[in-house]
Amino acid sequence: MPKPFIIPVFIPNAGCPHHCAFCNQRPITGADDRLISPEKIELIADHFLDFKKENRGTVQIAFYGGNFLGLKTDYMLSLLDASSKLVKKGRVDSIRFSTRPDTIVKENLEIISRFPVSTIEIGVQSMDNEVLQKSERGHTCQETEHAFVMLKKAKDANNTKYQTGAQLMVGLPGDDESKCLASCRSIAKMQPDFVRIYPTVVIDGSLLAKWYKSGEYSPMPLEKAVTLVKKIYLIFTKRKIKVIRMGLQASSDLEKGSTVLAGPYHPAFGHMVFSEIFLDKAEKILNMGNIHHDDILIKVHPASISKMRGLKNKNIVILKEKYKIKNIRIVSDPGIGIDDCAITFP
Ligand code: SF4
Repeated sequence: MPKPFIIPVFIPNAGCPHHCAFCNQRPITGADDRLISPEKIELIADHFLDFKKENRGTVQIAFYGGNFLGLKTDYMLSLLDASSKLVKKGRVDSIRFSTRPDTIVKENLEIISRFPVSTIEIGVQSMDNEVLQKSERGHTCQETEHAFVMLKKAKDANNTKYQTGAQLMVGLPGDDESKCLASCRSIAKMQPDFVRIYPTVVIDGSLLAKWYKSGEYSPMPLEKAVTLVKKIYLIFTKRKIKVIRMGLQASSDLEKGSTVLAGPYHPAFGHMVFSEIFLDKAEKILNMGNIHHDDILIKVHPASISKMRGLKNKNIVILKEKYKIKNIRIVSDPGIGIDDCAITFP
């Protein structure tokens, strides 16, 4: 299935009951704090639809960066109305948004059932109550479980079930590897259709930035975050839950040193996770043989060459050093599965 073509409409921190400790959406979304007017939605759609390629999947208007179901009802209705008009015109297929677990309530589900909403992403962040409390989320993991139960039962305007997404963060205040993995398993039990995994970074202007500066909070180092997110990715994919993003979307605002004060931000974070997965696969094969070879040939699917190499050929350097290999060649082979590699000894 081709990925949906997303028209992002950013509503930074709109509808939020307060600011969660780690959050400052303005630099993350690159949008300013003013509420977007419903009239502007068609203009945003016009702009993005110019870039739509023929083979892209369904088109969705996506409200991100805030707490959609926490918006004032009149304003939420005006955004849903404006987006629905684009669906009626056949320019867009459906609406999606992200929202807090504690906004998945009967009244809100009743409102959205009147509109062509297809996908709802829940900001879960953690399934550990102590971590949620230290991160000043203002809800519990029991509320998240309840939200998923309600959402799974609910139906959209066409009497179809919603696609559900879960957003998970690693490295929040009070968090550690075992709590993260436990959160991941709890989320998997709730069976979202897809997940996004975000390492916690210290964004200027957030409460976390204050705690970082005073020494109360230390972010997770990049390497550790990559390895932990790899483990989480493997847990979800083993349970056939799609991971649609790992790491924050790179943007010029985030690239400025003044925005991300510390923490495991890297514009190629997801790529680093995949590279580590491919390194593990190659090592597993090499460890099985227990025979030394000066030259090896690693075959991967054409789409996986750069993942096998790693950033700046990191995987090649590691394999050469660890296994005392002189030459490593990576060649593309469309016959190899996209997630696999094969090693031969020429
Ligand atoms: S994490 Fe979500 S709910 Fe919390 S302040 Fe940010 S946008 Fe609002």
